[in-house]
Order: sequence, then structure tokens, then C-alpha cells
Amino acid sequence: MSNGNVIRGTRIGSTPDRPTERYEPAPCRAVTYWCRNDHRVEIRMAAEASPPDVWDCPRCGLPAGRDAQNPPGRVRPEPYKTHLAYVKERRTEEEGEAILAEALAALRRRRGRPE
Ligand SMILES: [Zn+2]
Repeated sequence: MSNGNVIRGTRIGSTPDRPTERYEPAPCRAVTYWCRNDHRVEIRMAAEASPPDVWDCPRCGLPAGRDAQNPPGRVRPEPYKTHLAYVKERRTEEEGEAILAEALAALRRRRGRPE
């Protein structure tokens, strides 16, 4: 009766489905990228591989380049700029005043008031 449980002792999974991955000690080097938000990204790659010029920053998603002083982020517009910020970039305060005065004058004209 002890023979009835012989099968239980065999290891069904003893043959691995896939061979164990081997990590050969391949020559490796660290390549550093910087995005325009001053995030430093260090990736490791095989020494014989040529690193890409641009690597997406894992923290903010902007492209990061290998030149810390000149990150390539300016290709895309800033994602979180308000409309007012854009207007202020294009116009000075004085121009804004003039536009406002113009708009008020037009408004007064529409209401039939003399300026
Ligand atoms: Zn970043």
C-alpha cells in the first residue's frame, strides 16, 4: 500500500520549459542622458552597441540627450503652458494695455457711448 503513492514523488516540472537564461559577463558601459528638466538618466548597454542620440526620460517623458548643457527637449512645446503664458510671450505689457483699451473703446462704441 505504500507503493500506491510512488508517482507523487516524481517532479513533473523537473524539465524546464525554457533553458535558464545565462548572463554572460558581457562588456557593459553606462551611458548618461539628460532631459531639459535636469533629470539624469543612466542606462547600461553593451559596450559594442552604439548608444542612441536621444533617450526618452523615464521620469517626464521628454527626450533626453547626451549633452547635459543642451538637452533636446525644446523640440516639443511645453505641455503645461497656459494660454495666458503664450500671450505674455508674444506681447509686452504695454501692448496688452493697448489691446485692452482698444477692446474697451469698441465696447463703448457698441453701447453707443461717446469715448
Ligand atoms: Zn525628465
